[in-house]
Amino acid sequence: MKKRTKSVFNRIADKSYERFVRVGTQDEALELLAREDTLVLVDRGKPRSLKMRCPCGANHVLTVNLDQTIGIAWRLRVTGSLISLFPSVWLQTGCHCHFILRRNRVYVVGRHARPKRGYFDRSVQHPH
Ligand SMILES: [Zn+2]
Repeated sequence: MKKRTKSVFNRIADKSYERFVRVGTQDEALELLAREDTLVLVDRGKPRSLKMRCPCGANHVLTVNLDQTIGIAWRLRVTGSLISLFPSVWLQTGCHCHFILRRNRVYVVGRHARPKRGYFDRSVQHPH
């Protein structure tokens, strides 16, 4: 898995964003995402979640939790206008999209159901 994760950065990102937008509420994030394809950081004093359109192309909105106090959370790194998430995001249901977000670039590493064992990874809820 390590080798595969490294090699994925040698190819062109499946999607990339020039910036991310910081908002204060989930509703603001959803309104923004209805209008444009961007990365939206919901931040109220501290980062709460990242919302974005799923890179599978179906355009549904994903919510990636960043708040450890309310459950499994991803780690966020912000470098200027660039955002990275650790570890990768792997949807448990629906499109099963598995992707990495590094420095506003999205690398889709698979679209298949998560194997029962073998990978260290975390899954995100899949809102419809
Ligand atoms: Zn999807």
